[in-house]
Amino acid sequence: MMNLKNTITTIALILCALSCKKQSDPVISIIPQPLKIEQSTGVFKLSRGIKIEVADKSALTDQVMFLKNRIQSATGLDPEVVNKARGKKISLSIEQGLEGMLGLEGYSLTVTKKEVKILATSPAGIFYGIQTLFQLLPPEIYSDKVTEGINWVIPVVRITDKPRFAWRGYMLDVSRHFFPASYIYQVMDYMAMHKLNTFHFHLVDDQGWRIEIKKYPRLTEIGAWRVNREDQHWNKREPQKPGEKADYGGFYTQDEIRQFVSHAAKRNIVIVPEIEMPAHATAPLAAYPEYSCTGDSLTVLPGGIWPCTNLYCAGKEETFTFLEDVLTEVIELFPSKYIHIGGDEADKSHWIKCKACQKRIKDEKLKDEKELQSYFVQRIEKFVNARGRQIIGWDEILEGGLAQNAAVMSWRGTEGGIASAKSGHPVVMTPTAYCYIDYYQAKPETQPLAIGGYLPLEKVYSFDPVPAGLSEEEAKMVLGAQANLWTEYIADPAHANYMTYPRLTAMSEVCWISPVNKNFEDFSTRLVQQFKRYDVMGIKYAVVTKDQLK
Ligand SMILES: [Zn+2]
Repeated sequence: MMNLKNTITTIALILCALSCKKQSDPVISIIPQPLKIEQSTGVFKLSRGIKIEVADKSALTDQVMFLKNRIQSATGLDPEVVNKARGKKISLSIEQGLEGMLGLEGYSLTVTKKEVKILATSPAGIFYGIQTLFQLLPPEIYSDKVTEGINWVIPVVRITDKPRFAWRGYMLDVSRHFFPASYIYQVMDYMAMHKLNTFHFHLVDDQGWRIEIKKYPRLTEIGAWRVNREDQHWNKREPQKPGEKADYGGFYTQDEIRQFVSHAAKRNIVIVPEIEMPAHATAPLAAYPEYSCTGDSLTVLPGGIWPCTNLYCAGKEETFTFLEDVLTEVIELFPSKYIHIGGDEADKSHWIKCKACQKRIKDEKLKDEKELQSYFVQRIEKFVNARGRQIIGWDEILEGGLAQNAAVMSWRGTEGGIASAKSGHPVVMTPTAYCYIDYYQAKPETQPLAIGGYLPLEKVYSFDPVPAGLSEEEAKMVLGAQANLWTEYIADPAHANYMTYPRLTAMSEVCWISPVNKNFEDFSTRLVQQFKRYDVMGIKYAVVTKDQLK
């Protein structure tokens, strides 16, 4: 018979089991929010002797190293990697037959008091399971040196997760300002932490050519450098004067590019290179003026230009030879399915006056210069397609007729995206109003100088990449979304991070979860923990208070 004292103790234990769970078990705070989280009582503790179990090491070498290195750096533990482990372990395994539940990038993560198990259908899914595992640990797991006195516990939980979209992107403009190679690795690591998988590398523009092309060395000898006018407003910078030295800028060598691509693969990231044409071409035309309509000598611009009149000549055959040679090297370097060819903001005033361009219009029976641009893009598309790749361009490539297999990046609102999806072309949604994170994120007077606009965090979060008015079939053409960081007003990594985080954090959730599961207040709560992680990682993010909002 149970006496009164025992009964009271039993009741107390039951009550504690019910109420103490919430007090003692860690609060789960993951970004982007997983599809399904079922937390139970208790924790798994990372401690000495812990092993990483992986049946087929060769298939998961990068993922295992990623996990092992992070645990080692932050905790000082040295988990042994084995085929079969007894006792405390983190086990990683790829299993077939789960595609319906997890897709290509999903995972299931099960934590008991004895083990952590990550299952997926691909290395990508395993990688994202590991990323989620890190977010179940204290923020110090992101440290590159051992932090003493941390209780390295993971809550007992079962998580099933997969992304909504296949294209979860971030674009960095390295032309308006050049960013060092060391930062490009960081950018990809930060993206991977947010389960973003597409890095759109804006390598070319009027203010600098940033990629070494062996056949055309002047592209980087001349095209990568401009005069330093950093002390002046972007839109008030005089062009280079005779005798002035152009020594501000930089470029990535092909070896560096190969290392970026290799690092990206380890982080489940595809790098989509952008080679702008026919406009935004002042830098390459400064190096090779013979490919413009006028042949006039140009210098790389140190600041803004409007309109963009320095176009490649669409009438000269040599222009296409040049661009095809460039693209041949680009395609060899980047394994991405898509090659971005720009296509935006081409002012056709030189084409109107150019004899060669007008002859092309006549010979090809084109209606006008818009159709000439379409001819230009379609010709490049044929070249790219013949090499097994596809082109993507800004939504201006719709004008004058869209190339057959082209994908569209819808930036001037969503209309271009809707038109592409309706005509069966893949589209990436990146409308300025939600995705241009070079805009102000608070009242301008409280912020560093920016290009203009106003895009606070909550607005980014509210974005739905599938615009209203698309049928279910048409909606399938929406590959995903992307945040774009143009860098006219952003000269260094710290400022780039300030503009990017936490707005890219919000974009990661836009790309990952369904609108019905989105909740800005809940996201804001989880952001507090994310900021602690950023602090450990040394990411300088923006904190915007309510009174700084418009
Ligand atoms: Zn021309």
